[in-house]
Amino acid sequence: MKAAGYVGRFAPSPTGRLHMGSLVAAVASWCDARHAQGIWRLRMEDLDPPREVHGAAGDILRTLEGFGLHWDGPVLYQSSRDEAYSKALELLKGSGAAFGCACTRKTLQGHEVYPGNCRHGFQPGQSARSYRFAFDEEEGEWTDEVQGRRPWNSREMGDFVIKRADGFWAYQLAVVVDDLHQGITDVVRGADLIDSTPRQLALRRALDPDADDIRWAHLPLLVNEAGQKLSKQTLAAPIELEHAPELLMAALKVLGQVKSGDKEPRELVESRDTKGLLQWACQHWQLSQVPSGSVHWQG
Ligand SMILES: [Zn+2]
Repeated sequence: MKAAGYVGRFAPSPTGRLHMGSLVAAVASWCDARHAQGIWRLRMEDLDPPREVHGAAGDILRTLEGFGLHWDGPVLYQSSRDEAYSKALELLKGSGAAFGCACTRKTLQGHEVYPGNCRHGFQPGQSARSYRFAFDEEEGEWTDEVQGRRPWNSREMGDFVIKRADGFWAYQLAVVVDDLHQGITDVVRGADLIDSTPRQLALRRALDPDADDIRWAHLPLLVNEAGQKLSKQTLAAPIELEHAPELLMAALKVLGQVKSGDKEPRELVESRDTKGLLQWACQHWQLSQVPSGSVHWQG
């Protein structure tokens, strides 16, 4: 699909409430899209029911709205996309780009990269437990808008899972199918996902060789005092709407958008004008000012 204009997206998983790290990603992708007068889509990545928290999806939507981060069109729920993912898997199998894998965790013990056991079929009596993408030996690179030149080599990644042995769709397949479906042109997201990008580039080409390349921007990660990424696993505090102006200001500082001489954003925080501050951020947005390294965050 050829995309016209800018289409960005924010794609949270409903595994808990939004924390500061997810707010930074939401604000950056919203500002980048709105500054370009583009479309901003919202996708709920609810593919992993065992990890999901009841009520989290609704809470995330209410929080985004509370910050004035309004999205275009309906929310796309990945849990409703089974048919599209099945079609994509069939297409990949048909072209030889995907294969069934009979390996168990035990078979693969000690291998950091999948050794290719089932690429050419498996032993009699075995059956496919998962499906993998045949990531052919390939080198490439892309230029990330924040992180710069990013070379990659498929040998370091190996054939990766696109349908899991527990029956759930793998993140990589769902993201690529949905980015194509939603006509996404620009992805602005946390650097924790940067290692997924070559896999998604290759899958995208396999699924739609005519699709335009996505423009990628991977944001700095927020880390705690111990240097750990801010996440639900490291018990990052959820963001509270009552502190919206201060939290938005903090996110804009992390993103390098507020300079020491900028009076206007400070006045907007003082008058607790979250919407005004977001408008200011959108008008003054400069992706080139976003730092590439990790940022320490307490809270
Ligand atoms: Zn295998």
